[in-house]
Amino acid sequence: MSDELRPATIAVHAGRGDRAHGDPLNTPLFPAATFRGSRYARNEGTPGWEAFEEALGALEGGIAVAFASGMGAIAVVLEELPPGARIVVPHDGYTGTRALLGAREAAGKAEIVRVDIADTAAVLAACAGADLLWVETPSNPMLAIAELDALCDGAHLAGALVAVDSTLGTPLLQRPLELGADIVVHSATKFIGGHSDLLMGVAVTRDSALADHLREGRRLLGTTPGALEAYLALRGLRTLPVRLERGEASAHELARRLSAHPGVSRVRYPGLPDDPGHERAAAQSSGFGAVLAFELADAAAADRLCDGVRLIQSATSLGGVESTIERRAKWPGQEHVPPGLLRLSVGCEHVDDLWADLEAGMPG
Ligand code: PLP
Repeated sequence: MSDELRPATIAVHAGRGDRAHGDPLNTPLFPAATFRGSRYARNEGTPGWEAFEEALGALEGGIAVAFASGMGAIAVVLEELPPGARIVVPHDGYTGTRALLGAREAAGKAEIVRVDIADTAAVLAACAGADLLWVETPSNPMLAIAELDALCDGAHLAGALVAVDSTLGTPLLQRPLELGADIVVHSATKFIGGHSDLLMGVAVTRDSALADHLREGRRLLGTTPGALEAYLALRGLRTLPVRLERGEASAHELARRLSAHPGVSRVRYPGLPDDPGHERAAAQSSGFGAVLAFELADAAAADRLCDGVRLIQSATSLGGVESTIERRAKWPGQEHVPPGLLRLSVGCEHVDDLWADLEAGMPG
């Protein structure tokens, strides 16, 4: 597939094999554990995973390894590190990653240094002696934006690898490997799958030895994707460009309307010109994504809105065609999240219907 093609075109066309006459356009569902001879799916993969990996590799500009879930990908990346590794991580990233890092720290397997990932100088100061800098941008749920090129350069000078969780950025809006990252991971459960009906993850790197290690980690830990999941995730990827365009346009509009609403004390969306991450996101991404967060006065007001919405689903997770809203501070380990903060993942509904649903339950 030509590098000249735009990401939206690559998302539609990559991972379709050698396109021989008479072949189906799409790699069919491939339910197979054992193949004649010695091939076994956990070891060598299946054509179904390979099609997904080819597409993600083409989009990110590297070699993709598919996993059972985003957490499966993250766990295998962390397994690459030596015992006692020093890992610099965002203090406000995805709750599952933070819990996994906390567990490794508690077991004495790693030294975890928590930083404000948007504060480049502080992150780089913490990278001295580090084995890995873990970046999440935009971060979930605070929508902080990390300065990817400066962090990659500085961390490499300090001798640390850089891994970027680009789930909210999607493979269409930002390409961390191009900005210097060693590994990019996605929860494909979210925007890539796009329909809230599968769990899957992927890690992508340009380093073929590292890709081999990730495959070996998947083999040993058994964090392998399911056949149906790989099929559905690739099918989902085909429509990511149009889903994202719609979700992002609506997220932008909702962010503007929420900012003007008297009941809302703060909106976090990097697309807003006065957002602290706006300039950075504009410089390093081709869009601002379809997730925003906004704050109501307190937890009770936020819970009332979640209970009151009729169209928007009051549910965890994000990136589906259906909009979802959640008060993130209700989860353990989310003490840094303001109690009245709501994360809104904007789907493909009409923006005016979404706004009417929100407005009806809004205080003031
Ligand atoms: N990374 C981010 C930013 C996420 O939001 C999530 C899930 O919400 C994950 C990783 C974990 O992905 P999964 O649920 O597919 O394991």
